Amino acid sequence: MGLVVQKYGGSSVADAEGIKRVAKRIVEAKKTGHQVVVVVSAMGDTTDELIELAEQVSPMPAGREFDMLLTAGERISMALLAMAIKNLGHQAQSFTGSQAGVITDSVHNKARIIDVTPGRIRTSIDEGNIAIVAGFQGVSQEGKNITTLGRGGSDTTAVALAAALEAEVCEIYTDVDGVFTADPRVVKKAKKIDWISFEDMLELAASGSKVLLHRCVEYARRYNIPIHVRSSFSGLQGTWVSNEPRSQSEGQQVEHAIISGVAHDVSEAKVTVVGVPDKPGEAAAIFRTIADAEINIDMVVQNVSAASTGLTDISFTLPKAEGRKAIDALERSKPAIGFESLRYDDQIAKISLVGAGMKTNPGVTAGFFEALSDAGVNIELISTSEIRISVVTRADDVNEAVRAVHTAFGLDSDSDEAVVYGGTGR
Ligand code: ASP
Ligand code: MG
Repeated sequence: MGLVVQKYGGSSVADAEGIKRVAKRIVEAKKTGHQVVVVVSAMGDTTDELIELAEQVSPMPAGREFDMLLTAGERISMALLAMAIKNLGHQAQSFTGSQAGVITDSVHNKARIIDVTPGRIRTSIDEGNIAIVAGFQGVSQEGKNITTLGRGGSDTTAVALAAALEAEVCEIYTDVDGVFTADPRVVKKAKKIDWISFEDMLELAASGSKVLLHRCVEYARRYNIPIHVRSSFSGLQGTWVSNEPRSQSEGQQVEHAIISGVAHDVSEAKVTVVGVPDKPGEAAAIFRTIADAEINIDMVVQNVSAASTGLTDISFTLPKAEGRKAIDALERSKPAIGFESLRYDDQIAKISLVGAGMKTNPGVTAGFFEALSDAGVNIELISTSEIRISVVTRADDVNEAVRAVHTAFGLDSDSDEAVVYGGTGR
């Protein structure tokens, strides 16, 4: 029997009952003869509460102290979980990210893992313990400061440990039964996907699907670690994310599916730079300004310029959280770049259709736009990749648009309605 890494999210360990329930599941896995390493998130909304607390004492808390604070959330859950397992008569030891050998760069609040040296974890499990590791945190290689990996980073911790320990599988336990064809909180008729490729899962994650973090899927693909996303509240099989379908029936199912799913994202805003001279170098100057402010942008469109004025508008989307920074940076460069004004709009949503099958099936784009038009939804921006089409719409239209597209592509399930077991969706 091999080694499994299991990760439990905040909603699975939201209270003492949840911790005891999860402890039982972990012990079951151990009883089947596996070595078990568990990665755990902070209880419920603890991380959000800690962030709010920090903001009450300082509007701009220093990165180092902020990380020190946030990692406390996972320390609470890891210790409680180890206690609960011991109470069931099994051996368990908890470890911080630093103790588990999660080494990161020095970028506080969104550090990247650069190495994992899990010697202590290996020793602990070889001695018969279940090792419980605090997710979402590490220690910087230079400076030896405590870092965090960015919101939702426990998934990445789990996959990174699974890779370093050469685990058979990384099981991600959450509050839904797996990856669905749309967010089950929005589309009651969303279907659980049995198997999905790393490629499609990466696009879904990049398009706003929150069930798995983009970085985590990227890491899993790089080290070829199969991920099994499943509910900690039910015993059902969840969704396997891997390179190849695991069985012939999964393979056939995938061949018939053109579209993997519909994702939506309301975390972005749109900036329009109005009255940009239509000459070489202008777009370069605008996006150099944004890049120098270390802001990642998503979609970009440039309007046709009015012949009479020789001026054009350029719009792009970016995370709302970076909106202020982008506007400030552009305002500072306004004299050098020479545009007329800036518009900022945070009432937008992005809706994306994802599936490798669209490469070989004509009409997907047309069908997508028809579904939106039938639902009376206006499209503001469009962008595509080989296996994805995304549009920006008004935020108010998002739920209706997602449902319309889901139905139009035949993704609605005719049986069970998707179950959301926990979490506040916060
Ligand atoms: N507790 C952290 C968060 O809420 C990390 C995680 O849940 O993965 O973002
Ligand atoms: Mg979380």
